[in-house]
Amino acid sequence: MLRITVPNDIQERLHLALMKAGDRECGGVLMGEHVGVNHFAVRELSLQKPGGIASFVRSLTGAVKAIQAFCRARGDNFTRFNYLGEWHSHPLFSVQPSSTDHATMRSLATDVKVGANFAVLLIFRLNSNCKLEGSAHTYLPDGSIYQSVLDLENVQ
Ligand SMILES: [Zn+2]
Repeated sequence: MLRITVPNDIQERLHLALMKAGDRECGGVLMGEHVGVNHFAVRELSLQKPGGIASFVRSLTGAVKAIQAFCRARGDNFTRFNYLGEWHSHPLFSVQPSSTDHATMRSLATDVKVGANFAVLLIFRLNSNCKLEGSAHTYLPDGSIYQSVLDLENVQ
């Protein structure tokens, strides 16, 4: 099972993005570092303009530049730093992926053009105490889906 750590600085950015988006869904791509066996840490994320619809529309083309810049800044060390997956918010409902989310991520993970070994989907929302909560799922090229551990480091 994969474990995905979201460090404090990334959590703060998510928190701000979700506050700003309010009832609108927002999201983007995740870039991560391989920090241990089956363990990744989110190091960078992109934020697309929030849309007014509660559906998750991915646009990898808009994110390619962000991914390339992230990798280049880290010496193109692709086994350690790479595209990790996607994130978006569910401001008004549970952080579990919808059937559309599952289908979108499966088609991404099984797309030979993308050539990913796996793709992670993180879904976040702010709970009634305005605290960040979320879920993590991993999608493999063979079409399988695994619930993963979302590790939210505590804000000091
Ligand atoms: Zn969703």
